[in-house]
Amino acid sequence: MARTAPRPQPDREQVLKTVHQRCPACGGRLRYRYDNRHTVATLTGLVQLQLQIRRCENPACARHRRPYRPEGEGAIVLPQHEFGLDVIALVGTLRYREHRSVPEIHRSLRERGVAIAERTVTHLLDRYDELVATAFTDHDRLRTLLARQGRVILAVDGLQPDVGHEVLWVVRDCLSGEVLLARSLLSATSTDLAVLLHEVAASLGVPIVGVVSDGQHSVRLAVRLALPGVPH
Ligand SMILES: [Zn+2]
Repeated sequence: MARTAPRPQPDREQVLKTVHQRCPACGGRLRYRYDNRHTVATLTGLVQLQLQIRRCENPACARHRRPYRPEGEGAIVLPQHEFGLDVIALVGTLRYREHRSVPEIHRSLRERGVAIAERTVTHLLDRYDELVATAFTDHDRLRTLLARQGRVILAVDGLQPDVGHEVLWVVRDCLSGEVLLARSLLSATSTDLAVLLHEVAASLGVPIVGVVSDGQHSVRLAVRLALPGVPH
């Protein structure tokens, strides 16, 4: 069937590059191989992401030709999602802190310019529930995957849809792309965040070889407290 509505045009383009340019497994150069593009609906408009994907080209390496994606991608959107993590964080806050119904959340998102169907709000709410239920310690699948991988590079991001709202902290592994822990906190102090990072570190079973964040002061402090000696 022919598409009746024109595909909406992105409001802006964002190019994401990898912070790491050395292979985490063999230390060789990660070569820039191709771009991955997708469009994400965020609270600040429709964003066309251009992700610069790198790969290790060392045939002897365990990560030979495995794509290494920009670390910052996961702060914007979860894998295979068309709505940004900020939208998911807002849906969760409106539902659980402000006790709004799905139709009310839908109206609120539409008022903020997010083109979304009401049933998609329900999906995003499910996704929020799954996300905060991620208890890494219970996850056999993740533990096996990380054991095989031998190490992790953590990405730590705090999403606060509006000033005064709680912060949704998401800790991911950049090598596998997996979310290790997500939790909503009313405060964003470094002590609270350090407790979360400590919890992640204690349950991984593999070393943390690096941490990537947007460099907020509270995150820096928390990493120093919880993960001394890990390059940030
Ligand atoms: Zn390598």
